[in-house]
Amino acid sequence: MVYEVQNISEIYSEYITMTDYETKKSEYFNCKYCGTNNKKRFRSKAHLIPEFTGNKEWFCYDECDNCNHIFGNYYENALKNFGAFKNSFLPIKRKKPHPKYIDGHKKFSIKYRNDNTLVMNTSEIGNFFDIENDNIKVSSVTPPFIPLYVYKCLFKFGLALMNTSDFQKFKSSIPWLLNKDMKIKGNIPYIMLLNSQTKPVVKPIAILLKRKKEYNSPEYSLVFQWGFYFFQIFLPFNSLDENLDYNELKFPVFENFVIKNNKGNFGLSYYDMDSLSKVKSIYDANFGLKNFKKIKSPLI
Ligand SMILES: [Zn+2]
Repeated sequence: MVYEVQNISEIYSEYITMTDYETKKSEYFNCKYCGTNNKKRFRSKAHLIPEFTGNKEWFCYDECDNCNHIFGNYYENALKNFGAFKNSFLPIKRKKPHPKYIDGHKKFSIKYRNDNTLVMNTSEIGNFFDIENDNIKVSSVTPPFIPLYVYKCLFKFGLALMNTSDFQKFKSSIPWLLNKDMKIKGNIPYIMLLNSQTKPVVKPIAILLKRKKEYNSPEYSLVFQWGFYFFQIFLPFNSLDENLDYNELKFPVFENFVIKNNKGNFGLSYYDMDSLSKVKSIYDANFGLKNFKKIKSPLI
């Protein structure tokens, strides 16, 4: 496997973006994932990308309540726990008031108020912040999350954006996707590229990339930006990717994922997400990936 940071725009093009998405009328009330077409199972309106990431406008009408429940309660929740602390510093808009982030361990809370003030509360004089060079550094232990759930969440964003004929190629992923604790190997490793220090966005950006020419890399890649986080994954389970030469697989990635480690060496920030063990991480408001210890990272 080789990661390439030079040529992504030569190999991939933007195929479907969240803002272009529309469920075809013929696909309304036919669940893309489990296949049900029982109208009674479409009582709730499914967000294309979760509301907590700042999406209030884009919905899909081909996701039933059962599937929505699995995706929301497990996978999207895992993503939320993964990023809640750092993104609580941003005025990400949603239906409800901004959520309060509570650190039960260090006993403080963070809440963005509608008048654009960030309020941090603590019931005791704790050690949750440091002042260094005129910067306040706040650290927190995140709520627990399961890495594979975060990965399944991003994978599902990719499927949600696809049209029916592209989706047909991913049929073999469905048992794995719908059974939260199923761990099977896809044809592409469950690798997530992550940069947690990008210029933040208050509305999410989700783009499905498609390979535009013959190349020994997966046909689809998803990029997703939420608050401070920028993610990229390559979608496993595509039947057409069976033709690739797996020993020489190439992954063209955005240069945003190139980071400098403690020793001053450059590396790529990517994580193996194939784990069902709960993880908690220590983050700070300027957090570096060095704090993100519990997920394997081959290059750091
Ligand atoms: Zn369903």
